[in-house]
Amino acid sequence: MDIFKWQQVIEFSRTFQTELDCKKYLAELKWKDGFTCRKCGHQGSQIRKDYARTCNKCSDTESAGADTLLHKVKFGLVKAFHICFEMSTSTKGLSAMYVAKRYAINRKTAMSFMHKVREAMKSGENHPMQGEVHVDEFVVGGQEAGHTGRSYGGKKKKTVCAVELTGEGKVRRFYALKIKDLSAKSLRSIFESHLDKAAQVITDEWKGYWPISKDYTIKQRPSELGLNFKALHTMIHQVKSWLRTTYSWVSKRHIDRYLSEFSNRINRSQNKETIFYILITRMVNQDKIYISMVPDC
Ligand SMILES: [Zn+2]
Repeated sequence: MDIFKWQQVIEFSRTFQTELDCKKYLAELKWKDGFTCRKCGHQGSQIRKDYARTCNKCSDTESAGADTLLHKVKFGLVKAFHICFEMSTSTKGLSAMYVAKRYAINRKTAMSFMHKVREAMKSGENHPMQGEVHVDEFVVGGQEAGHTGRSYGGKKKKTVCAVELTGEGKVRRFYALKIKDLSAKSLRSIFESHLDKAAQVITDEWKGYWPISKDYTIKQRPSELGLNFKALHTMIHQVKSWLRTTYSWVSKRHIDRYLSEFSNRINRSQNKETIFYILITRMVNQDKIYISMVPDC
């Protein structure tokens, strides 16, 4: 199959003009290693006009979008593909309001679909960070979130983040996770999800990192108001200001999804050409269980 490459919107729109164009693409991705019936396990099938497959043995028909994050999208696959394309190629995050207007869909529907896309943007945690990695915590939300004089939900949300540096001290990759407090147990989550055991970790002097140093090589140095962690603090500044300007309020429930979207944008820079292909592939491969985990906001 042709992998859709590059980022030109006209070429994209030409490629995915109709529902059938999108279904064809999904079917090619879904069954690229051959068809196996979800009901009986048989491998022979008929291809329908809409690229669904009907099992030769038990006659079960499976649509191209079935059991994927693109199953029964209310507003159709053409819009869904375009939203995925915009979300994966734009250099900024898009708000649900913007997407709703641009695609003439309901804001809540846009919001719920965008959360599915963010779910697919979540790191597979297959490539732990190596070499020099800086780890720190930051808070988002609360009164700072653009609402003057009102506190939505009160407390700020705590997060822990890590940045993998290049030899020149530049950002190679960035990840952040929501945590409930600054205890060693909570801070450990980012180490276990995203750090290689052999990484050379540097943190500030917070004692919460002490117990973790049994399992990881951790050096501590004073933060000096962030001056000792310049690349990391630039990232923290960016993610906070993005959340503040794009989303007036980030609910606790969704913060990990927004953080995934942000990290995805930073970390994908190495494979820009195939970014849409990677996103759609992940949406096709995500189990439908994830769908029920995404609440209709
Ligand atoms: Zn079957």
